[in-house]
Amino acid sequence: MSGRKKTITDLTTDEVRGRRVLVRVDYNVPLDDDGRITDDTRITTTLPTLDGLLQQGARVILLAHFGRPKGKPVPEMSLKPVADRLRELLEGRRVEFVADTVGHEARTAIGTMFDGDVLLLENTRFLPGEEKNDSGLAQEMAALGDVYVNDAFGAAHRAHASTAGVATVMRLEGKPVVAGLLMDRELQYLGRALSEPERPFVAILGGSKISGKIDVIRSLLPQVDRLLIGGAMANTFFKAMGLATGTSLVEDDRLDMARELLSTSGDKLVLPVDAVVAEKMEAGQAVQTVDREAIPADRMVLDVGPRTVDEYRRVLSDARTVLWNGPMGVFEIAEFAAGTRGVAEAVAEATDRGATTIIGGGDSAAAVAEMGLESRMSHVSTGGGASLEFLEGKELPGVAALADAGAS
Ligand code: ADP
Ligand code: MG
Repeated sequence: MSGRKKTITDLTTDEVRGRRVLVRVDYNVPLDDDGRITDDTRITTTLPTLDGLLQQGARVILLAHFGRPKGKPVPEMSLKPVADRLRELLEGRRVEFVADTVGHEARTAIGTMFDGDVLLLENTRFLPGEEKNDSGLAQEMAALGDVYVNDAFGAAHRAHASTAGVATVMRLEGKPVVAGLLMDRELQYLGRALSEPERPFVAILGGSKISGKIDVIRSLLPQVDRLLIGGAMANTFFKAMGLATGTSLVEDDRLDMARELLSTSGDKLVLPVDAVVAEKMEAGQAVQTVDREAIPADRMVLDVGPRTVDEYRRVLSDARTVLWNGPMGVFEIAEFAAGTRGVAEAVAEATDRGATTIIGGGDSAAAVAEMGLESRMSHVSTGGGASLEFLEGKELPGVAALADAGAS
């Protein structure tokens, strides 16, 4: 794991006051059909960084992406609605938006900023060079600021011009290049869990596919005291154990790997003992709870059963560190949400007892939020894909580009 990165708290007053501080944020918020923001967590979680800079008299220039416009302007993917929401949240501040990212209009708007002002630039992905990490674009971005701050953990696994390229250029130019407070918080929680977890350390892995998480399993197994499995990936393990899996989602091409993990992991790997099954992955189905040895041939496993939840709660009862990625079942459908809810409550109880509890993964974070348990977790990661890659032990390009703490 990489060491600590410099943060905005390492910047001197001189490096902030009156300076053009380029801040990369992840404002890829969900919108409803009318273009209204349905969840502004990604905006509110950057406020500590923005407030910290603004109070010291910075001129904050925000870079962000939105959706997948694939290198050209798409009106529905403009960041304008985000600027409007940010203006409400930063009451009393001048928050401007400009429909340009690195061109003449953007530079002119920056030229008219006062200390303590905020300017949100248009969607970086409107530019063809962004996702290619084009060096020319990185140079243009670098010219917009005196300091670079990356607070976009959710985009840090991408080597794009606004995450990696610009940071590299600005560092070469001798400008400060540091992490924001949200980025720092993510790296602290996830980093500490992997490098120096208080034990017992229990990881819970679920979700749809074993294939998407195999690198996480491999990287976590040596570190954890227990690895609790749920979701569809449990089915592949069931089949590898010789159990009948009915019509469940099973990844046959991963059976050998599942067998290998079962034989090498000792009692670390804990599998569900029962399952909620139905004929189809749909609401309104007749559901049945069965032991894992009795999965009917015409049914699919869609959630873990109550005995599994009890067992997992017992394992979690003395955990000091808990890391959870991936729901236990198809929680989007009420009939198959009980397992995820039960485990979420058990994790929240662990937090109450003083454990450090960390939720990674987009759907897991959504499940916890939907169940109203967000505030009872130590940390809910804002980065789905990024947290997964971090847990796989990969170095994130957007993080690698930042200055190390302790370095000059
Ligand atoms: P995360 O985003 O937290 O990393 P994933 O994307 O890996 O989680 O998986 C989430 C999806 O897994 C959910 O949409 C959920 O419906 C699905 N899922 C969970 N259990 C099952 C199951 N038994 N069968 C099919 N899909 C499942
Ligand atoms: Mg997901």
